[in-house]
Amino acid sequence: MDGSFEIGKLAGIPIKIHYTFFLIIPIFAIIIGTQIELTISLVEQVFGLTEPIDASLITEGFMPYILGVLVSFLLFVGVFLHEMAHSVVALHKGMKVSSVTLFILGGASEIEDEVSPRPRDELPMAIAGPLMSLFIGLISEGIAYVSLVSIPETAIAGLLFYIFGYLGLLNIILFAFNLLPAFPMDGGRVLRALLAIWLPIEKATRIAAEIGRVVAIIFGIIGLITFNVILILIAVFIYLGAGQEVTMIRYTQLLAGVTVRDAMTSPVTTVPPEMPIADAMNLMYSTRHLGFPVIERGALAGMVTLHDIQTASGIDRDALQVRDIMTREVITITPERDLYDALKILAPNTIGRIPVVENGEVTGIVTRTDILKLMEIREVSGTTTRSVFRP
Ligand SMILES: [Zn+2]
Repeated sequence: MDGSFEIGKLAGIPIKIHYTFFLIIPIFAIIIGTQIELTISLVEQVFGLTEPIDASLITEGFMPYILGVLVSFLLFVGVFLHEMAHSVVALHKGMKVSSVTLFILGGASEIEDEVSPRPRDELPMAIAGPLMSLFIGLISEGIAYVSLVSIPETAIAGLLFYIFGYLGLLNIILFAFNLLPAFPMDGGRVLRALLAIWLPIEKATRIAAEIGRVVAIIFGIIGLITFNVILILIAVFIYLGAGQEVTMIRYTQLLAGVTVRDAMTSPVTTVPPEMPIADAMNLMYSTRHLGFPVIERGALAGMVTLHDIQTASGIDRDALQVRDIMTREVITITPERDLYDALKILAPNTIGRIPVVENGEVTGIVTRTDILKLMEIREVSGTTTRSVFRP
């Protein structure tokens, strides 16, 4: 994710924070702080409390806001543990976890999945997160209960009771919300994995996506009737998520068994680092390729693209050479890799082409357009493998 930075590693997984994350703590703190009465009554309802307990430590002065900061911080610790639960199970199943990122909407684990997820891997991986939230929720409610019965009628007991009572409630809501049977929620994956025990993965995904759409429509209708904007937004989010999942699985189906070699353009036009930018531009006109690998002494030194030229300042453009503006850190791929892996690298739209490197030599180039064209052809000719489901 762009705009995030690494704060450290845990179990070998880079932990990242997106800048939007810093907005959510104050927003939550204000929401909780201004609605402290509601928070208190919610927690009391959970425990069926009829006699009020000492809430002086959380209602006076700035305390509601301090409490808000504390609860939102602890909530995100919970969200982080939820993501770590997904990631640790994924590692255990032999998958690579590139990062865990916290951002405004919660957390996201970047897991390099199989071409097609196997239900016996996906099921425990998807359910681990919500179970962690449930666990944290129950532990928090346990702490709240203990402070209620063991040290009653003190302000400290009241403080612990309300903080952990509310935190527990939020984590249990998180558990339930994540288990909604709709993509991109964990519940959608759980449902798909369960269906995939009996059905091919493609069909399981279609059915899970359809159920997700129904859930989204129900949410949307309830949201419209009750004028609940958040519910409407969730409905849209879920509805779009369903479509994306079906597209993803269609891609994996169409690209099953296809390697980078099958789609790459070879031989590839390359340029030397000392080529003037004007010449590189002319080469783009004549070849209609918008990017070239830069080769220095037989090895890949970088990539130069139209975008690199556009961002170079106009005045210097005539004096500059390819080496001055090329991107030096280039993601490469080997020809034996699955084409789907190449698509995953290209999908975020930040790069348009990947040089294909074999034994240290650039042998080809693969672009998003190449992959899309190949998929179109395979779709028309019906050469898709019937099922890539690997039990
Ligand atoms: Zn999750």
